[in-house]
Amino acid sequence: MANFSGKKIFVIGGSRGIGAAIVRRFSGEGATVAFTYAGSTEAANALALETGSTAIQSDAANRDAVTKVVRDQGALDVLVVNAGSLILGDPLEVDADAVDRMIDVNVRAPYHAAVEAARQMPDGGRIIIVGSVNGDRMPFAGGAAYALTKSAVQGLARGLARDFGDKGITVNVIQPGPTSTDMNPEDGPMSEFMHSFMAIKRHGRPEEVAGLAAYLAGPEAGFTTGALHTIDGGFGA
Ligand code: NDP
Repeated sequence: MANFSGKKIFVIGGSRGIGAAIVRRFSGEGATVAFTYAGSTEAANALALETGSTAIQSDAANRDAVTKVVRDQGALDVLVVNAGSLILGDPLEVDADAVDRMIDVNVRAPYHAAVEAARQMPDGGRIIIVGSVNGDRMPFAGGAAYALTKSAVQGLARGLARDFGDKGITVNVIQPGPTSTDMNPEDGPMSEFMHSFMAIKRHGRPEEVAGLAAYLAGPEAGFTTGALHTIDGGFGA
């Protein structure tokens, strides 16, 4: 297990689900952790109290807010951009404003947060974006716009890895498969279908994804950059 004592870690979208597991993991390993959230004030405050981290309300759909909240953190050792939303539905019917807001949160926020963080990040800094296996594979109808956002961050990480390599900063994407959270509960309507073609027929746990984040943020991952790290029970295999 890595030790993150003395490290300053910022998680965009950390109040619930995978983000909260990442906050718990890094706090538990001695890091100074702050995280943002949009609407879940109660969950955010409880997590901050539990872990000794700092909760900051900041909407990832707002570019100025994203840029400011990252800049205000100062020099970060690790930035994790986890905030995401999921809009599924018939593209002929789905609300176009909701799709655009998802693109703001899932694509524009990672770009602007990563660029802003890199301005102050020291050599050895780590940028981790939570994408999805749906960036590689969208095996059902209604997911085009979500898949678009998760494919977009693949290109983002590849490009920024080259932009920031000389600064000693790595940029990676974690691509979870179905992971049991409010967004995708294990007892949800799609679970049986998804498990039917997975190699490991269950949802992942947020803590498993947090473990991969800890690896990518740790000292053994310094040569790992511009890469996609899938943790999906064989969803995309
Ligand atoms: P949840 O819906 O359970 O949690 C989402 C988190 O992101 C919450 O803390 C939420 O805060 C925050 N968030 C959402 N929108 C915003 C916003 N506009 N500004 C700031 N924070 C925001 O999702 P998961 O934990 O399941 O998902 C986390 C990431 O993992 C997402 O990027 C998702 O696409 C990805 N993913 C998830 C999978 C799954 O099966 N669960 C599979 C593959 C990828 P608040 O509640 O305060 O708004």
